[in-house]
Amino acid sequence: MNVRSYLPTLVTICCLILVLTIESWLPAAGGRNYRLRHVARNLSLGLLNALAVAALAAPLIANIAWWAERSRFGLLNLFGLPPVITTGAAILLFDGWLYLLHRANHKFGFLWRFHRVHHSDPEMDATTAVRFHTGEVLISAALRLAVIPLLGITLWQLLLYESLMAPVILFHHSNVKFPEKVDRRLRALVVSPAVHRVHHSRMQFETDSNYSIVFSIWDRIGGTFRLRQDGRPVNFGLDEYDGEEWQRVSRLLTTPFQTANS
Ligand SMILES: [Zn+2]
Ligand SMILES: [Zn+2]
Repeated sequence: MNVRSYLPTLVTICCLILVLTIESWLPAAGGRNYRLRHVARNLSLGLLNALAVAALAAPLIANIAWWAERSRFGLLNLFGLPPVITTGAAILLFDGWLYLLHRANHKFGFLWRFHRVHHSDPEMDATTAVRFHTGEVLISAALRLAVIPLLGITLWQLLLYESLMAPVILFHHSNVKFPEKVDRRLRALVVSPAVHRVHHSRMQFETDSNYSIVFSIWDRIGGTFRLRQDGRPVNFGLDEYDGEEWQRVSRLLTTPFQTANS
């Protein structure tokens, strides 16, 4: 592993500190109780996932990406385009893949069992960006073993994508008050807070929209882009998993294997 491999982790940590600081100073929803406990729980899941990926998936993903690059395997190697165009296309295509995977996480019951851990957060903030069940993270990592060589994405392009993704997902999950004017400019290109907050709504028709991760173009192409016209704040979470007992780390980890009685 060379030092560039740590770039996404470094960017994530720096951006997380920055966004958590701005959340204290300019919160969208103020007066939150137990903020520290909420942050600690979500970061515990994030840390567990980072360790699981580092131990189980990262070396395999790096090896398959190196193999694809050396053998010039995959879609992006077919055209002989200049490196800067190939890198741009790699970033865009990988983001498109994550849009499809995110839609699948909502559509298929088995995948939703894992993904609902991300949606059951009733107080969304920057730490929700790392609140995923380890099972979901490992399923996504396993699928990368096929997607990376098929698309012909290099390890460096993947690291670049993850470094770009980190600030975008931390900001669009954040509890930072963004002026509408700024949000409007942001969402023309990337997934802004106003866009992703709708995806975390308790109302199913709103949850079934805004699946894009970095670039908002995928929802526009897929016809799943939605905004709240009246500007009312979104009520986050899942009704069945609101209880305090569902928010403990141990329970978040067993959520996919238990179903709440609604
Ligand atoms: Zn989702
Ligand atoms: Zn989210």
